Amino acid sequence: MNLLEVKNLKKVYTSLGMNKTEALKDINFSVEKGEFIAIMGESGSGKTTLLNILASLDKASSGEVYLESKLINNIKDKDLASFRRDNLGFVFQEFNLLDTFNLKDNILLPLVLANNNYKDMNAKLNPLARKLGIFELLGKYPYEVSGGQKQRAAVCRALINDPKLVLADEPTGALDSKSTDELLKAFLDINKMGQTILMVTHSVKAASIASRVLFIKDGKIFHEIYKGNDTNSEFYEKISNTLTLLVLKEKENENL
Ligand code: ADP
Repeated sequence: MNLLEVKNLKKVYTSLGMNKTEALKDINFSVEKGEFIAIMGESGSGKTTLLNILASLDKASSGEVYLESKLINNIKDKDLASFRRDNLGFVFQEFNLLDTFNLKDNILLPLVLANNNYKDMNAKLNPLARKLGIFELLGKYPYEVSGGQKQRAAVCRALINDPKLVLADEPTGALDSKSTDELLKAFLDINKMGQTILMVTHSVKAASIASRVLFIKDGKIFHEIYKGNDTNSEFYEKISNTLTLLVLKEKENENL
């Protein structure tokens, strides 16, 4: 069954001078439960706009987004926060951990907001923190741990409410290469546990662990490739080649 279905999605921004930007032109794709999708494209191609609409943080101009067959782009504003809390998990580049809370309290925040009881919360937290390798760090504050550890705490927070879909925006963008490797391993682990992930990234290395990569250009899906039985390095090569093709097409258009 498709977990997510995006149909004829369009987004037009109108700025003060009546200038119109068609950020998304006609986006169509679906994501099966358990898939790990990476979305790539140059700056300005529409990735953030797409992610914001899927996250129900922004509204489309037209088209539909279905999560488990439920149309989500007509949810009433007053119900949006609880919709997000019950269905989605977010991992951002900047971690967004609060410095005044230790990692445990940062991670439990979504459950506290959902009025869960303390015993249930701990029962969920401990195995997940162990899986993500941060169990020993739960009492520490964000400024006491490394960037990679902070990011794994952010992944733990994104998973604590059992989201149907994890949305990640450049999750490795602020990490050094060792922390990037650790985070990617954590993403692979949670994907193997059945978690569906949709990740926007500029990093070919990050995209090469996904099961499918969608390339977006000028607000449209330009191409998609499946990992299939490829190794990470074979898939890395295919992604690099597709990105080169995208740049060559861009040059061709400029020369017309
Ligand atoms: P990406 O994330 O791939 O860099 P964006 O989704 O941020 O791309 O932007 C797609 C296009 O929409 C760009 O041309 C950008 O300038 C425009 N855009 C994005 N947000 C706004 C906004 N709030 N108002 C007007 N134009 C916007």
